[in-house]
Amino acid sequence: LRGGKAKRGIPFTAESLTRVYLVTSGKGGVGKSTLTANLAVALAESGLRVGIVDADVHGFSIPGILGLVETDAATGVLRATRPTQVGEMILPPVAHGVKVISIGMFVEPGADGAGVAVAWRGPMLHRTIQQFLTDVYFGDLDVLLLDLPPGTGDVAISIGQLLPHAEVIVVTTPQPAAADVAERSALVARQTGQHVYGVIENMSGLPQPDGSVLELFGSGGGAEVARRLSSTGTDVPLLAQIPLSIALRSGGDTGEPVVLAHPEEPASLAIRAVADSL
Ligand code: ADP
Repeated sequence: LRGGKAKRGIPFTAESLTRVYLVTSGKGGVGKSTLTANLAVALAESGLRVGIVDADVHGFSIPGILGLVETDAATGVLRATRPTQVGEMILPPVAHGVKVISIGMFVEPGADGAGVAVAWRGPMLHRTIQQFLTDVYFGDLDVLLLDLPPGTGDVAISIGQLLPHAEVIVVTTPQPAAADVAERSALVARQTGQHVYGVIENMSGLPQPDGSVLELFGSGGGAEVARRLSSTGTDVPLLAQIPLSIALRSGGDTGEPVVLAHPEEPASLAIRAVADSL
C-alpha cells in the first residue's frame, strides 16, 4: 500500500448516495471503535450495504472486534486478515456483512501478537487514508463509517478535507473531563466544514441486579457535550446513552458483536436505535 499514488477520485462525494459518518472522540478508550463496529453490523443486518474505514492509526481495533483475525503463517501469531489485491484494487475483507479496511491490515504483527507501532507522519497518513478511500473497492455502499483516531490530530484534519460532506458522531463517556475533550474534537470537525450529527454517551451506567443503576463514570457528559455544541452551531442531539455491558465488552474480545450475539441486551437495543436513525 505504501508509496503508491491514488489515481482515481474519491467515490464518496456529496453527490454519491452513500451516507458517510465519522465517529470521533476526545480521548481513547471511550468505546468509539466498539460502537462503530456494532453500528455497522446493525446497519448491515437491516439490509444496508455497509463499509468501515478504520482510520484509528495508533489504536486500530476494528479487525479484532469484528473477528477479522487469522494466524500469520510465517510467525504463528494472530494478525488482522489481509485484504485481497486484484490489479490495483484492494478488496476489503467482509465480517458480519460489513466490508472493512483497517490500517491494522497493513502492518506486520510484532512477536507478541500486537501490531508493530505505527509511527507515520502526517503526509504518509494523508496518502494512506486517501488510498483507503480511492483504491479500496467497496462497490456501492449505503453507509460508510469511519473510525477516527481520538483527538484533533492530522488524520481528523485529512479526512475533513477528503470528505467535507461527512457527518460527525461524537462519542463520550459521562465524565465531565471526557466531555471537554469530546467537544474539542467536534469543534475541529466543524472547522473543516463538517456537520455534527449527534453525540453518543457510552458507559452510561451499570444496571444492578436490584434494578438500580451504578453510575461508575458519573453522569451528564453526553447531554453536556450536545448542549454545548448546540449553543455554538446547529442543533446537536444526544443520540443515545449506551450502558456499561459485559456482553458488549466480551463480544468485542471474541469478534462476535453484541448486537448479533445478544440482541436483547439493553446496550444492543440502544445501539440498534441509533443505527435505525442514521
Ligand atoms: P476506543 O475506540 O474509544 O479507544 P474501544 O472501543 O476500543 O474504545 O473500547 C475500549 C474498551 O472498553 C474495550 O475493551 C471495550 O470492549 C470496552 N467497552 C466499550 N464500551 C463498553 C461498554 N458500554 N460497556 C463495557 N465495556 C465497554
